Amino acid sequence: MQTAIHWFRRDLRLTDNTALAAAAKSAKTVVPAYILSDWKKSHRWTGPNRQQFLCGSLASLDANLRAIGSRLILREGDAVAALEKLAAETRAEAIFFSRDPDPFGQATEARLAAAAKRLGIAVHAHKDIALHERDEVLTGSGDNFRVFTPYFRAWQKLPKPAATGAIKNLATPAEPASLPLPDNSRWQIPSGAPGVLEPGEKAARARMRDFIARRLATYGAERDIPSGLHTSRLSQDLRFGLVSIRELHQACLAQADSLDAGGRGSAVKYIAELAWREFYMQILWKFPEVLDHEFNPKFRGMRWPGDPSRLAAWKNGETGFPIVDAAMRELRETGFMHNRTRMIAAMFLTKDLHLDWRLGERHFMQTLADGEIASNNGGWQWSAGTGADAAPYFRIQNPWSQTKRFDPEGLYIKQWVPELRDIPAVKFHEPPAPGTRLAKNYPPPIVDHAAARDTTLELFKAHQS
Ligand SMILES: Cc1cc2nc3c(=O)[nH]c(=O)nc-3n(C[C@H](O)[C@H](O)[C@H](O)COP(=O)(O)OP(=O)(O)OC[C@H]3O[C@@H](n4cnc5c(N)ncnc54)[C@H](O)[C@@H]3O)c2cc1C
Repeated sequence: MQTAIHWFRRDLRLTDNTALAAAAKSAKTVVPAYILSDWKKSHRWTGPNRQQFLCGSLASLDANLRAIGSRLILREGDAVAALEKLAAETRAEAIFFSRDPDPFGQATEARLAAAAKRLGIAVHAHKDIALHERDEVLTGSGDNFRVFTPYFRAWQKLPKPAATGAIKNLATPAEPASLPLPDNSRWQIPSGAPGVLEPGEKAARARMRDFIARRLATYGAERDIPSGLHTSRLSQDLRFGLVSIRELHQACLAQADSLDAGGRGSAVKYIAELAWREFYMQILWKFPEVLDHEFNPKFRGMRWPGDPSRLAAWKNGETGFPIVDAAMRELRETGFMHNRTRMIAAMFLTKDLHLDWRLGERHFMQTLADGEIASNNGGWQWSAGTGADAAPYFRIQNPWSQTKRFDPEGLYIKQWVPELRDIPAVKFHEPPAPGTRLAKNYPPPIVDHAAARDTTLELFKAHQS
């Protein structure tokens, strides 16, 4: 065919991009397009940190396309209407894109397919963002897994798609006009957190290489330590498709071959985390109602009767629980939070403050640079005890003993809560004596953990009776 559109979505890269490679193979000229939506209209699901990272990644994508003889064509508004218009302008015969795992993306895909049929244009949807999607990982009776371990066993057994290289040249018609690259003022994005990582494919690939060479071997043992850098920090890159999941998986296996038994075990642990991402995507594919309801029918309609005025203390990192406050301030300052402290902060909101997990889910989506609907909903419902393969509701993490276990020297706490820098770390291992504070300018604990825990158990029991 003469001309095809590649619609960039969550695949903002040139390396091993299945839909882009297919478009380049099928058409003489390719129109690489991204459709900007008004981010403020979807403010429930996004915020400045992720939008800023997206803007930077689009600028980097445009520069990378220019280096291979092409350029990014930016349009705005409703994706289907914008693509229809672009197809008419360029006389494109087909639109290529990679499938989205969330229900909003899928609804757009369905509308696009209907519009394309009407216009006589082909649409080609590709699997790109997951190694396995939708109906690929199923139980022997063809059902969806609801528990991770058997899901992972089945996931591991399936052959994995191979990575391909980067596109080296791309011919693009000269005519189609593009909007200027979005920046903070044009898009009215308030400044994001100063610590959001560098966007773009090049920076993401550097992070991937660095992790595999230096930390994959120790990931299994160190991944729960929130201070320092022990994990891959690739979540925002996977979220926007700046690295290919196939390449990442393949690189882990290749590195594992050069490691001892411990290192190989560590690589499997890492790969299991990549599979958690796909487990939650599959849950969302099959059960989109999890965005509004508890996954576990036993806990549908649970009451969360906590005092709503405490939400602000949680968001601002002023609960008087040092590990929770460190986590929330890390989020505020970097648009990121370590996985261990995401669990602690989320359990604290639901099980100590008795506030609805949806309030926390929304705040995370609005602040995380890696905010991903499936993983975030999965993580929140795991922590609340209502999700697929969730922490049982009666296993309530104690923020003080979690600190003793995972931040014994208080390094993480001292990094993010400056008021506590001069306080001996042992003081973070248990609550201060009633009526006292850890530091003059630091609040006393907002709740008593032991009493809050009892209330949680009562709430869950009452709901089931
Ligand atoms: C309440 C809560 C909310 C969360 N919200 C998100 C979110 O919005 N976006 C997001 O990408 N992750 C989310 N997670 C999962 C996890 O915390 C992050 O993926 C991880 O901290 C990112 O850091 P990393 O890239 O260094 O992870 P690594 O430990 O290096 O893991 C590698 C990759 O595996 C995937 N991964 C790791 N752990 C999980 C997990 N538990 N669930 C799903 N995928 C996982 C991520 O893509 C991650 O980049 C959430 C977890 C919880 C408990």
